Amino acid sequence: MSTQEQVAAGLQLPVMEAFYTIQGEGRFTGHPAYFIRLGGCDVGCVWCDVKESWEAGKWPVLSIEKIVDEALKFPGRLVVITGGEPLMYDLGPLTKLLKEKGFTLNIETSGAHPFSGNFDWVCFSPKKFKKPDPSIYAVADELKVVVYHHSDFAFAEEHAKLVRTTCELRLQPEWSKASKYTPEIIEYVKNRPNWKISLQTHKFMDIP
Ligand code: SF4
Repeated sequence: MSTQEQVAAGLQLPVMEAFYTIQGEGRFTGHPAYFIRLGGCDVGCVWCDVKESWEAGKWPVLSIEKIVDEALKFPGRLVVITGGEPLMYDLGPLTKLLKEKGFTLNIETSGAHPFSGNFDWVCFSPKKFKKPDPSIYAVADELKVVVYHHSDFAFAEEHAKLVRTTCELRLQPEWSKASKYTPEIIEYVKNRPNWKISLQTHKFMDIP
């Protein structure tokens, strides 16, 4: 199989970076985790803080065995697959192999491509710049909406209607707008207690 065919089959994937750190946001805030950041994203968020991830061709294509071997070098057994937009790839083979090695698996996705893979926790963070694929709504465990503009509150509510009733709902101030929107998010959540606040605590700790 050519490299292109291997990538299409999910047996090799472009990896922008992989690192062991502390999950800074969402449900697993504070948990040590190994992040696998796949290269490639076609969503185009104006405030994206990993724009260098967008072009998949810039990043080395690694076999899933190599990716898993690297993850095994660290003591934590929580893996977060992120991007870029990780669902641009078939995550079935990588998640199967990680599961066989005993990892708990989380994904952070905009849901802009059909869902694939076997995850213990699906964090769905929809973006206005590309409509989510409908397959995400039945599997999302957490809806995390980044608040960059006042209209994001209504956007968050639209998506809250589409996810499962068990899905946890979080609002997260976009980092550069945090001083403007955090007070509004606090009041919003106090008045609508089905929502919770997520903060990018890794940025306060100055860790990746
Ligand atoms: S989906 Fe994520 S990686 Fe892609 S542009 Fe938006 S913030 Fe950046």
